[in-house]
Amino acid sequence: MSVEFDIEVDVLVIGAGGCGLAAAIAAQDAGAETAIVEKLDRPGGNTSLSSGSIPGAGTRFQAAAGIVDDANRFRADLARVSGTHDAPHVEAVLAERSAELVEWLVDSAGVTLELVETYRHVGHSVARLHAPPSRDGSDLIRDLERTIEERGIPVACGQPAIRLLTSGDRVIGAQTRDRRGESTRIGAKSVILASNGFGANPSLLAKLCPLAVAAQYAGARGSEGEALGWGQDLRAATGNTAAFQGHAALATRNGALVTWTVVERGAVIVDRDGRRIADETIGYSAFASRELVAEGPFHMIYDTRIAGDVRSGQPTFAEVCQPGVMIVAETLEDLAARLDLSASALVETVAGARQAAEGGEDVFARRDWGLGPLVPPYCATRIEPALFHTQGGLMIDSQARVLRDDGSAIEGLFAGGGVAVGISGRSGSDGYTSGNGLLSALGLGYIAGRTAGQEALQAPLSRPDTLSHTHTHTHVQHGG
Ligand SMILES: Cc1cc2nc3c(=O)[nH]c(=O)nc-3n(C[C@H](O)[C@H](O)[C@H](O)COP(=O)(O)OP(=O)(O)OC[C@H]3O[C@@H](n4cnc5c(N)ncnc54)[C@H](O)[C@@H]3O)c2cc1C
Repeated sequence: MSVEFDIEVDVLVIGAGGCGLAAAIAAQDAGAETAIVEKLDRPGGNTSLSSGSIPGAGTRFQAAAGIVDDANRFRADLARVSGTHDAPHVEAVLAERSAELVEWLVDSAGVTLELVETYRHVGHSVARLHAPPSRDGSDLIRDLERTIEERGIPVACGQPAIRLLTSGDRVIGAQTRDRRGESTRIGAKSVILASNGFGANPSLLAKLCPLAVAAQYAGARGSEGEALGWGQDLRAATGNTAAFQGHAALATRNGALVTWTVVERGAVIVDRDGRRIADETIGYSAFASRELVAEGPFHMIYDTRIAGDVRSGQPTFAEVCQPGVMIVAETLEDLAARLDLSASALVETVAGARQAAEGGEDVFARRDWGLGPLVPPYCATRIEPALFHTQGGLMIDSQARVLRDDGSAIEGLFAGGGVAVGISGRSGSDGYTSGNGLLSALGLGYIAGRTAGQEALQAPLSRPDTLSHTHTHTHVQHGG
């Protein structure tokens, strides 16, 4: 095929979320000329919706806080939650390089992160999540965008990639099409797929991840899964596609996320009958699956002590403290009346939890009760289960190269974040350890960017035929 390119770069990154921005910075670190194309009008994707918590095992920030941790411990934590799945090699490399990733984000990529000691969340046996001080993923994106802009890496927004360009078995670039229908062919020595999973594509979801269909989708709208199809057209293997990250506590009233710290401090979750349905401490993702097969509406029941404690550590909890979102009452009977629940059932449920928190046997064998039994005034927030993002995708090797079914790498093609095979189990939402999403996004972006960048310096541009260097349709902005 004769391919004429409108633009050429060493490394082309598709998608300007956490994975793509990290990949572009890492590729440029390696000396490669890099550009990013983004489907929507601005960068951010799911990453900007997240709380920005990234696990790093053995970081200098942990050492300063006196926390002893390492890759082996992290890997054991991940494996305990994920169970058997299709990508243990990805789990291993991400655990091994997580400390390097966090320190690179701070030292080279300009991201402000601090060790989170106020919560550690499900799956982590020590404090190892690192997050922006605001606990807001849009600050993570803001910092990455600033670095992208300072380094002059072009970001073309409103330029969805619509297909990969190939020469024989090799990927040599991608084609984009803007809203006016104008196409641009971008030639590249390597293409990094960083366009996330397929959570926003109901038909792909029904086909590949049916358990998640009934959950409210709370992720970014750009995650439509095109890259999965492009990979499969090139005979790429896939893995873990039925796994997803759920969250059991999206506030129904305003869509705010009720952080699981509320549960960790002692909250319980009740169904439409005012009864608990499982051990809440299995985690926000796993508990979402329990809700998906139970009868809602669901309410998180906590108290003003817990609300104050959580708000002081996580400023974004203010959204949940809004009148109407957080219902406060002096007695459980009054609370039940305001929630339209059976008062006797709610009183019985909270009494059972109190007895367990005081050392008795819990009906669901829950052992951690945070601040202890709930005390008045009581609080409640109506919640529903959500799908945050899909966890499976294209099979990759430990350098983030996309692999075919026979294990061979597709030349010129890398994938990270939600496009790539995940590390959160093979199916359902139980295998998700807190931070797996951003670890895969930023970690694989970092690895793919660095590898693609280094390779680009060694390889000439793959040009099957004559190329045009001149004609540029894209609206290239710096930092988008
Ligand atoms: C509310 C919420 C909270 C979360 N909190 C956490 C957390 O604290 N820690 C954690 O680890 N994970 C968290 N996650 C999960 C995490 O957000 C995702 O796993 C991660 O952001 C995925 O990053 P990504 O770069 O792969 O995708 P994204 O950040 O979604 O970036 C993909 C980008 O690609 C663009 N794109 C899509 N298709 C194309 C195309 N054809 N051409 C060009 N561009 C395209 C999209 O528009 C988007 O900008 C959370 C998720 C949600 C929804």
